[in-house]
Amino acid sequence: MRDVIVVGGGPVGILLACLLAERGVDVEVLERRTEPSMLARAIGIHPPSMRVLRQAGVAEEVLARAVRIETGSVQSGGRTLGRLSFAQTTGRFPFVVALPQYETEAVLRARFRQLRPDGLRSGVAVGMLHDRGYHVDLIAEPSADRAGDTGDNGLEIVGTARYVVVADGARGQLRDAVGIASRPLGGGETYLMADYPDTGEHGSEAVLFFERGGVVESFPLPGGRRRWVALTPTLMEDASLEDLTALVLGRTGVLLPASDAVPSSFSVRQRLAATMVQGRVLLVGDAAHEISPIGGQGMNLGWLDAVALAPALTHALAQPIEARVTLAGYDRRRRRSARIAARQAGFNMAMGRPARGLRLRLRNVIVRVLATPPLNGLLTRAFTMRWL
Ligand SMILES: Cc1cc2nc3c(=O)[nH]c(=O)nc-3n(C[C@H](O)[C@H](O)[C@H](O)COP(=O)(O)OP(=O)(O)OC[C@H]3O[C@@H](n4cnc5c(N)ncnc54)[C@H](O)[C@@H]3O)c2cc1C
Repeated sequence: MRDVIVVGGGPVGILLACLLAERGVDVEVLERRTEPSMLARAIGIHPPSMRVLRQAGVAEEVLARAVRIETGSVQSGGRTLGRLSFAQTTGRFPFVVALPQYETEAVLRARFRQLRPDGLRSGVAVGMLHDRGYHVDLIAEPSADRAGDTGDNGLEIVGTARYVVVADGARGQLRDAVGIASRPLGGGETYLMADYPDTGEHGSEAVLFFERGGVVESFPLPGGRRRWVALTPTLMEDASLEDLTALVLGRTGVLLPASDAVPSSFSVRQRLAATMVQGRVLLVGDAAHEISPIGGQGMNLGWLDAVALAPALTHALAQPIEARVTLAGYDRRRRRSARIAARQAGFNMAMGRPARGLRLRLRNVIVRVLATPPLNGLLTRAFTMRWL
């Protein structure tokens, strides 16, 4: 029996496993995939997360591969409405770091391999958890070719642990399978995005174009590329790169360079679990709270769960009598942070909606005020996740 089994080897599950392994906890990760996902997802890593990555021993490696975003600007109708400097952020990392999620995950997996060479079991899909009171059995998803032990009812037990952490992401099934309810926190907006060659026009600045037709966002990436994201009226699943290029040109006047990138569309969902702790089953990351990618905080929020859960879980293992109270504190604090992040993402999305006439002028006034001292300090804190 393991101390802890983490289900899901995404960025949150692996980071948590690193933090637990460093504390001497006997931890294993079970991951459904046999090959890493190369999907374009998170790029922004915020200052509190960099501190967590330093704890996990990977901050230097991440910085070596990434681009540092030190400023962000907001533009509308060809004019700059305001500029934020992340250099005002105190501490060792006064910038937002941009690195594609698959690269960050590769760095984390390599670190976990150093800490626990056989700690990641790939190709294992967990279908159900049975909390037996003193331990949890993990049951495989039904499959035609079973190879492990079979327990009661002929089910295949793929692991047994004192605690199980569910880190199976927003599309994971385990939260529902163990009967933890979740509620929607808004969403529904749709976006189209792709990574283009960077023409260098904006340096390493992040740029938000708040235009009449809706928001366009642009972020630098390593390797001379830039990500462009545009709000769309509907989910444009079959859109081509030319569609996105035309959309950006029409709204902002920026002509993007030719690229062989394939655009991806996504629709925003925000959800929050009713609890992140149920007996010996704990939730982290997107399995607990799905937050809009607009504002770029979902993965970061999950990492902040991990840094809160690692000491709580270590304490619960060492002092079983205090486990309930310790884990209840984790649940309370992290769901509060998720609610704040969801509200903030909701505000970001509302600001980016199409606007004309009076509404457009009002929005531009709000943006100017927020991007000018003293309020820009607050905005910078919000964007760099200082209160999450
Ligand atoms: C377009 C887009 C842009 C984004 N941009 C940002 C950003 O800039 N900044 C940011 O912070 N966040 C961003 N996000 C959100 C970020 O991608 C997620 O918050 C993050 O991936 C959550 O990590 P996770 O480890 O919780 O879940 P996931 O990354 O989903 O990982 C879950 C893992 O569990 C595995 N798994 C699932 N079910 C099982 C099972 N039954 N058994 C075993 N394994 C299982 C999966 O294969 C997967 O590897 C973005 C998301 C999208 C879609």
